[in-house]
Amino acid sequence: MDLQTPIVKASRAYKLYARRLEKLGIYKLEDFLFHIPFRYDDYSIISNIQSLQEGEIVTVKGKVEKIKNVYTRYRKLIQQAVVYDETGKVNVLWFNQPFLTKTIKTGDLISISGKVSLNKGKLEFNSPDYEVIYDGKVIHTGRLVPVYPETKGVSSKWLRRQVFKLLDESGQIEDFMPKNILEENSLMDLKTALKQIHFPENLETAQKARERLEFNELFEIQLLSLIRKKQWQNKVLKKPMIISNEKLDDFTKSLPFELTNSQIQAIEQLKNDLTLKKPMNRLLEGDVGSGKTVVACYAMYIAFLNGYQSAFMAPTEILANQHFKTIKQFLSIFGLKIELLTGSTKPNTKSFDILIGTHALVYDKVNFKNLGLVVIDEQQRFGVEQRAKIKAKGDSPHLLTMTATPIPRTVALTMYGDLDLSLLTDMPKGRRIIKTWLVPPVKRDRAYSWIEQKITKEKDQVFIVCPFIEESESMVTVKAATKEFERLKKQVFPKLSLGLLHGKLKAQEKNDILNNFKEGKADILVSTPVVEVGIDIKNATIMLIEEAERFGLAQLHQLRGRVGRGDKQSYCLLFTQSKSKETIDRLKSLETMYSGAVLAELDLKLRGPGQIYGTAQHGIPQLKIANFSNLELIQKTKDEAIKVFEKLDEYPLLLNKINYERATQISPD
Ligand code: ADP
Ligand code: MG
Repeated sequence: MDLQTPIVKASRAYKLYARRLEKLGIYKLEDFLFHIPFRYDDYSIISNIQSLQEGEIVTVKGKVEKIKNVYTRYRKLIQQAVVYDETGKVNVLWFNQPFLTKTIKTGDLISISGKVSLNKGKLEFNSPDYEVIYDGKVIHTGRLVPVYPETKGVSSKWLRRQVFKLLDESGQIEDFMPKNILEENSLMDLKTALKQIHFPENLETAQKARERLEFNELFEIQLLSLIRKKQWQNKVLKKPMIISNEKLDDFTKSLPFELTNSQIQAIEQLKNDLTLKKPMNRLLEGDVGSGKTVVACYAMYIAFLNGYQSAFMAPTEILANQHFKTIKQFLSIFGLKIELLTGSTKPNTKSFDILIGTHALVYDKVNFKNLGLVVIDEQQRFGVEQRAKIKAKGDSPHLLTMTATPIPRTVALTMYGDLDLSLLTDMPKGRRIIKTWLVPPVKRDRAYSWIEQKITKEKDQVFIVCPFIEESESMVTVKAATKEFERLKKQVFPKLSLGLLHGKLKAQEKNDILNNFKEGKADILVSTPVVEVGIDIKNATIMLIEEAERFGLAQLHQLRGRVGRGDKQSYCLLFTQSKSKETIDRLKSLETMYSGAVLAELDLKLRGPGQIYGTAQHGIPQLKIANFSNLELIQKTKDEAIKVFEKLDEYPLLLNKINYERATQISPD
């Protein structure tokens, strides 16, 4: 069986599951094997029926004497069974699973795992896990049983069966890791590791398996970034750019503000990059409002002065529009021709120095005469392919990517090891901090009336972000947001005008709603967390976030960045029902901390492995099994990757694997 087979092609049965499995990151058969359990139920103690004791969690194996559906006095349907072995009998019951009398039959050999309880003086198993034993093998009982991240319609039990089957049938799983690395780091071979991570003999072997798979993951990332870096450095530019400091000084003088220190530093770094004989590959990371656009303007101006065109790609039409306006303001006085290209606007002319646009820029018919620089805003919002396509429109153009996603340094250096990093750590002068409070539930009503006052007296506008429900926006999220919207409209703010924004709206509808809000036609915009509002709404001053505990700190920080774009003092109100001191302390750190990168670092420390907080759509790269806080392993895998990288040809299996990953991965480049 080819483990690279996509789920949709694997079998008809899987086809039905494909959409659900995607939610778990399972696209091909192999992904099942790398869907790692987050814990195990310990059902490894096996007892005979005679020695069962109340309260213990055990497994018994026996034959089914009888099983039947019974209605209780309160019209509840229960399934009653009696199981026996050579030492005795025990009652087993389940609730409301009438199909059990079809799957379990009198005479079947069955394995039962669960807690033993006492009912009217008799021992029984109440809703235990169970499986009928056919060929001596047990998967769901009688051992350490893996429990997986699940999604609606995909249970751990179902996943367990698929994984078991795959491991059973997949025969040889070739280990691509060089033997000496395995030996030096005392790592398990791949097949054993996969078997032991899912169906471990004991917790120690599970741990060893985990170590091996963590090593894999980080090692691959490191090796891939070495390869990308090498490739990048192999490109030789015929004509490095020349910097005219005089012209740049004039540009600086023309700005209506003073640059921050970190802007100055980032500009120096990119000036240096542009004078080298290889293309720049720099990631500019800075909070919303830290002033990344103007930094990019320096690079585009330098390109212009050297006779090159620039492309500036933004993830949404609204953002592209906004950039178009600001960049024109900054640069057209210096004679640059700036044009806009989106799904709905075409440039006025074919000659331009800067072409700003959405992903429409990558279309075949868009041509550049001599593209020397590509700027990508919110780079994580674009796929590898789009990024590759836009670069291909020039002859090894310089690349500046930008992100407002607060990525901790350790993460950035691991995931983007091949990029040079510039951080904007300070905010422009005079920018006010967004006063943030964690509002206790008893003060909810007061908060609402305060908001109403701000709106009616000071004409402020407000964002209300609904609870985070699912990783990707589904109808469940939309329904919850709609319900909250109705509640606010009818019960809380009947006199005000409210808008609702969610991801299931069409692009045009979203645009209309946002524009309405921007024009002040709505006082409050209720939105799902998944919807990005990267747009400047200067008059929006209050951000209210429901069930704040469901978000990571960095994410909350990003959300509050939607307000405070104008001159008015802005506020962020966090609500939570949680009473846990840990949660409250965590959220309170937003009252005093205002750096996205610092908050991201704190997130990393506070959130245990396995806690996801829905970061995927916010651009923080996800690891499947390893952990970014494991600095030691990050370093170790880096060292090993460097060693192997020098003689990659000696490891054909690894080379194969890496080439495959490169062809299919979604990763920065
Ligand atoms: P972001 O990093 O979120 O992309 P922008 O580049 O959109 O931020 O900048 C946000 C706003 O701050 C813009 O109106 C921009 O002109 C302004 N700005 C940029 N740098 C400075 C600065 N050093 N001082 C004051 N305002 C600045
Ligand atoms: Mg920006």
